[in-house]
Amino acid sequence: MLIPYSTQSIDESDIHAVITVLRSGWITQGPCIGHFETALREYCGCQYATVVSSGTAALHLACRVANLGSGDVLWTTPNTFIASANCALYCAAQVDFVDIDPVTRNLDVALLEKKLAEAEKKRQLPKAVVVVDFAGHSCDMEKIYALCHPRNIVVIEDASHALGGFYQDGKIGSCRFSDLTILSFHPVKSITTGEGGAVLTNHREKHDRVQKLRSHGVTRDPAKLIDQRPEHCRSWYYEQQDLGFNYRLTDLQCALGVSQLKRLDGFIEKRRNLARRYHSRLANLPLKLPVEQSYAQSAWHIYAVEIDPKKTLLKREQVYSALKNAGIGVNVHYIPVHLQPYYARLGFKKGDFQNAERYYENALSLPIFPDMTKEQFETVSTALGTIFK
Ligand SMILES: *Cc1c(COP(=O)(O)O)cnc(C)c1O
Repeated sequence: MLIPYSTQSIDESDIHAVITVLRSGWITQGPCIGHFETALREYCGCQYATVVSSGTAALHLACRVANLGSGDVLWTTPNTFIASANCALYCAAQVDFVDIDPVTRNLDVALLEKKLAEAEKKRQLPKAVVVVDFAGHSCDMEKIYALCHPRNIVVIEDASHALGGFYQDGKIGSCRFSDLTILSFHPVKSITTGEGGAVLTNHREKHDRVQKLRSHGVTRDPAKLIDQRPEHCRSWYYEQQDLGFNYRLTDLQCALGVSQLKRLDGFIEKRRNLARRYHSRLANLPLKLPVEQSYAQSAWHIYAVEIDPKKTLLKREQVYSALKNAGIGVNVHYIPVHLQPYYARLGFKKGDFQNAERYYENALSLPIFPDMTKEQFETVSTALGTIFK
């Protein structure tokens, strides 16, 4: 059987949680949504949480709340899943990129500073930036926030990889150095609800807007009605106040989310142990291994190595194929977003963001997931040793 690069961990407690909701009568828009939101904000240490149908929906809502629109620009990293950039295009805004730091593979803060200074001179500052905690390792959020906040640039942290990790002494999702932080609950991420996501924030007004936009831009709260005529303060009355979406998560999914969140610290512990073992087992191979900076504790969403062309003649493609042939489901994260045909049509080209391109040339994500067995770990490590012999 193929060893996947990542997969969910579902146990009896998760199954029981979902069955309980199935028997309860409320399969969507019942009490589990609030329970999951409360559990998330308590875990992350932020003020407000809204759960939505996907991480992509969360990014879209974050961009809407940042008031991104036609004529505005959003900056992000090219080393991410396409959704981190597409969210700006959904709002008719433009996208630009800041290249990565080859060590962390996250958006390079020094390059951000330089690009901001140039944009400021031309009066073309971005309205928002989406920074991505690549592989589960936090960006240096304090520095990023210090550069963006004084210039009124909305900081959106895409923490799809990083739930369960730390920045400084705070949990990922605390929103201490972001205006909005988004999460994804896709099966390969830290916890899963099948599909799902969340928008976290410490700003009351931003939270209210996210809640409203999640469900058609509608409110039923009598205190929030625009038309305050007494006959409208009835339980059947609702007002559409904004153009929203149906980005709701179901009670079935939220019950799974609550159950998974209880298991999250255990998941991260297992990921950390696997990462530690990879570090020591792969230390003498011609690979550049991921490193943790002093300000972060990674959630180890992926274990991304780079084939070191100075130390081996083997190409990434050869290593990839050899592992695949040995039944090991390796992957590559990420094809730089600006090289996608859709983005090429917007004017981006090879050479625009060379650190991300160079990283991509040699990158390989090794299997890492909570239920990975000792045997599976041995299979992967031994196969790598054999390939480079
Ligand atoms: C998974 C992911 C998303 C999107 O999440 P979905 O829940 O699949 O929509 C966004 N950004 C990054 C970096 C991701 O890895």
